[in-house]
Amino acid sequence: MFGLGGTEVGILAVLAVPGIVGATIAGRRGRLRFSWFILSTVFPFAILILLFLPPTRPVKGRYKTCAFCAEIIRHQATVCKHCGRDQPAI
Ligand SMILES: [Zn+2]
Repeated sequence: MFGLGGTEVGILAVLAVPGIVGATIAGRRGRLRFSWFILSTVFPFAILILLFLPPTRPVKGRYKTCAFCAEIIRHQATVCKHCGRDQPAI
């Protein structure tokens, strides 16, 4: 027997689901997709940790950098949650 049969491909597909979910969430939160794909595939519970981690960099349309304190805040924010200063209109 050489190559992958239907059962093996099915098992790999099921294992990849948490990885794809983790990579998608990571991308939306400005984190490294590939690292979170591997981590979520091996440890699916890592997705729960990812949901509570703050974003690490600006993501267009989701997170931006505060013009005053340089912390990452939500794109729609009108006041920075870190320094409390009003944000310039988008
Ligand atoms: Zn700020």
